[in-house]
Amino acid sequence: MLKKIVIANRGEIALRIQRACRELGIKTVAVHSTADSNQKHVLLADETVCIGPPASTDSYLNMPAIISAAEVTDAGAIHPGYGFLSENADFAERVRNSGFIFIGPPPEVIRIMGNKVEAIRAMKNAGVPCVPGSDGPLGEDIEENLRLARDIGYPIIIKAAAGGGGRGMRVVNNDASLTSSISLTRSEANAAFGNDTVYMEKFLANPRHIEFQILADHFGNCVHLFERDCSMQRRHQKVLEEAPAPGITPEQRQNIGRRCAQACKEIGYHNAGTFEFLYQDDEFYFIEMNTRLQVEHPVTELITGIDLVKEQLRIADGQTLRFKQDDITLRGHAIECRINAEDPKTFMPSPGRIELWHPPGGPGIRVDSHLYSGYMVPPYYDSMIGKVIAYGDDRKSAIARISIALSEMVIDGITTNIPLHQEICQHAAFKEGGTNIHYLEERLGL
Ligand code: ADP
Repeated sequence: MLKKIVIANRGEIALRIQRACRELGIKTVAVHSTADSNQKHVLLADETVCIGPPASTDSYLNMPAIISAAEVTDAGAIHPGYGFLSENADFAERVRNSGFIFIGPPPEVIRIMGNKVEAIRAMKNAGVPCVPGSDGPLGEDIEENLRLARDIGYPIIIKAAAGGGGRGMRVVNNDASLTSSISLTRSEANAAFGNDTVYMEKFLANPRHIEFQILADHFGNCVHLFERDCSMQRRHQKVLEEAPAPGITPEQRQNIGRRCAQACKEIGYHNAGTFEFLYQDDEFYFIEMNTRLQVEHPVTELITGIDLVKEQLRIADGQTLRFKQDDITLRGHAIECRINAEDPKTFMPSPGRIELWHPPGGPGIRVDSHLYSGYMVPPYYDSMIGKVIAYGDDRKSAIARISIALSEMVIDGITTNIPLHQEICQHAAFKEGGTNIHYLEERLGL
């Protein structure tokens, strides 16, 4: 088994990875910025290396500093967590070329999936359903682009092949604005991502966001661990997630899940990954693949009983998957609320000192957070400070448990979005299940 790894991340996910390592007897090296020396996982690590000043470009995105930390501590592998360098093919390649194991898929695969046009092509070839679209990059021929858009049928959406984080997209409703919208998206994509490739897709008016979790080893074994519903979003950022997705039939689940697993085999994928789909009128449409662990992975862990981070570590260590598709069963329902240090109404970040931290508990409650009383939430990073996850026999019980957990939770000293989650859990439409990706913003009057 791996003996020692570098955790190239911070916050709750660094602690989550560290807990899995400790369980498996793997030593951990915490690399951190000068702003993070008091993080819980840093204090608990076997070794620590300060890799730079607070700004992430100088620390958590500083590839040479992270790789040097692995060298000086004689670690065998690097876990990138999510965000930061987790989907950076160049980083994965440099890790590999420096003689370390990157705990994730091969750089070649990250590179393909980082280009949405190529990702969609690969998925189509593997029989994964995609959004009707241009089947490749758009050219400069105005007439040809108009013809494509009319064939697909307005509204359509122009998207940057290299886009991410909900940026680099533009909806077009008619011929009149098509050409200018393509040019605009192209120049924005070039400025933001250094790549002006754009493509066209049918714009789905009221979809849900449903994603499938997969695990693949180095020997061609690949399984899916069912789906998550992450439709509760604000500005393309997930707020609350659940598994399984309300209303999805066992047949749909197995059909799409198996296609994803098959696609992984075909592209030579290994480790954990997620296929994101839009779902509308009973149809799934692939939009992109995330080649890393997701923030919302705990809901899948709770309904399957499988520890995704431990499996990531085992796969990276070269072990064979310990289960086959039919060994994986779905039981109960899980809901996760992302707790952010932000104002629940204005969404302004609210960093600061945690005066009192009282996490909730009781049956079926899991809290993944690096907070403790006296901890300073720094202003430099993402505002997410933890996740509360509830498990129940069924969705109703999971909602009841998460509502109680939210009501028990105390975080004094800063403002958080706990009141927003409490409100969501009271909504009749949420209780009913199956709300679409616009629901929350409409509710908030945005
Ligand atoms: P990113 O990598 O920036 O997250 P995605 O391709 O995953 O980009 O799309 C982000 C979000 O944009 C989706 O969750 C959805 O809300 C919206 N979106 C993307 N493609 C479409 C589409 N074809 N129709 C409707 N909405 C879309």
